[in-house]
Amino acid sequence: MSNLCPCGSQKDKNDCCLAIISGKRDAKTASELMRSRYTAFTLADGVYLMRSHHSQTRPVREQKSIEAWAKSVQWMGLVILGTQAGEAPDHTGFVEFRALYLEGGKMQQIHEKSLFKREHGKWVYFSGTHL
Ligand SMILES: [Zn+2]
Repeated sequence: MSNLCPCGSQKDKNDCCLAIISGKRDAKTASELMRSRYTAFTLADGVYLMRSHHSQTRPVREQKSIEAWAKSVQWMGLVILGTQAGEAPDHTGFVEFRALYLEGGKMQQIHEKSLFKREHGKWVYFSGTHL
């Protein structure tokens, strides 16, 4: 129905997160990578969630359970609350966000400040602190 990207950018998803998830282009900023990971959660795309996660902290053994969980909830939206660095010339950056989802009929949220780093020149998720 809607071609709007699930990440809330108000852009066509093919020009937004799907272009990054499919590898057509790289995320230019940490917040673009954050958005693409949220959209990957809405698609339960565990392969991309692993690929976009720093190799030092990548939860390889949890991939299947992450996919199963991502599929079991209804994703309601992403709100980017703030960013620190994470722009094109930077090597690290922080993004604070809320991701909303329905689980068992109840609205839930992940409120996190995430650390992103570059690995082999590409932005990846490193770690996060729940707020
Ligand atoms: Zn998007």
